[in-house]
Amino acid sequence: MSDADAFEEELAEAKAVIPTLEGFTLVTCVAAQVRAGYKKTDHKQLNVILQFPAKYPHERIVTELTSKTLSEKLLRGLVKMCDEEAKKLVGQKQILPVMNFVREFVINNPLCVCSEEIASVKKDFIGEKDKMKLKQDTSHILLKVVQEQYFMNLKIMVPDIYPLEQVAIEASESNFPNLLKVFFVGQAVEIARKCVQPPLKPNKKDPPFKPRASLREVCEFLIKDCVKRYPLENCPCCKDRVMLRDPEEVAKDPRKRVERVYCGHLYHHGCLAKYMKTPPFKDGKFCPSCGKRIFHDKWKVTPELAEARWAHKQARERELAEVTDFLS
Ligand SMILES: [Zn+2]
Ligand SMILES: [Zn+2]
Repeated sequence: MSDADAFEEELAEAKAVIPTLEGFTLVTCVAAQVRAGYKKTDHKQLNVILQFPAKYPHERIVTELTSKTLSEKLLRGLVKMCDEEAKKLVGQKQILPVMNFVREFVINNPLCVCSEEIASVKKDFIGEKDKMKLKQDTSHILLKVVQEQYFMNLKIMVPDIYPLEQVAIEASESNFPNLLKVFFVGQAVEIARKCVQPPLKPNKKDPPFKPRASLREVCEFLIKDCVKRYPLENCPCCKDRVMLRDPEEVAKDPRKRVERVYCGHLYHHGCLAKYMKTPPFKDGKFCPSCGKRIFHDKWKVTPELAEARWAHKQARERELAEVTDFLS
């Protein structure tokens, strides 16, 4: 068979087979070019354009990829892989193998949908001692974030229909106090939810709500605003590091346990307890770092009650002092 006849036959086969491959829509299938769209989900969609050099199939097919949702950089990488694949098939049919290769790539690399976000998180938030691992087979990202002697391991799951559905977050091993770990993850889940769910009471001036990508926002919060921030913060009362430099030491001194208040500042348990019981009490107690009112479940007392307790404590101390004076 001549090369021309073989090419005609390959085109006819491609025309028959491509529409039967799940996810493909054939647009053109002629000697000038073969063009098909591939769709896995709304955001995993691309166009495959194949062109044929004069000596085809004795030279490799030329692949071009375009997409409205996948990043340019990812597409460039994928074109290179297609070229490698086609090189192995020089002298043979290449149309269907390249089409299948593109499809397999999208199916086997679910994180391709957020490749740009992953690159930006890596560049902006991941330090030398941190680790980031992509798990394509289960569509999740593993992070180990370190600040001095503290670390937190996080698992971020990217759903198939991302970014229409938000990422899910799990904290595994960590040596942060449990109170903080629970807060970090709880807030991160909330941030992710707000990326895809419209507010209950939308502001009329705002443009209509559109779901947006949640991976970068979640990682920025967890890495920059949590794990990297808190180990370096000082207690608003005593001005010492609020989290002990050695995480092991906390167990030995319960007064050095951390407490987190409404404004986000951390206190030593002992320092906050003392501060909450010391006047002035008028209109409540305020955070010395940011001036916001302190709300905490463990110290839910009214200014009047705090005042009464303070007076009582003072009276007892006076009595005690009198007794000591008398005895000395
Ligand atoms: Zn303190
Ligand atoms: Zn504060």
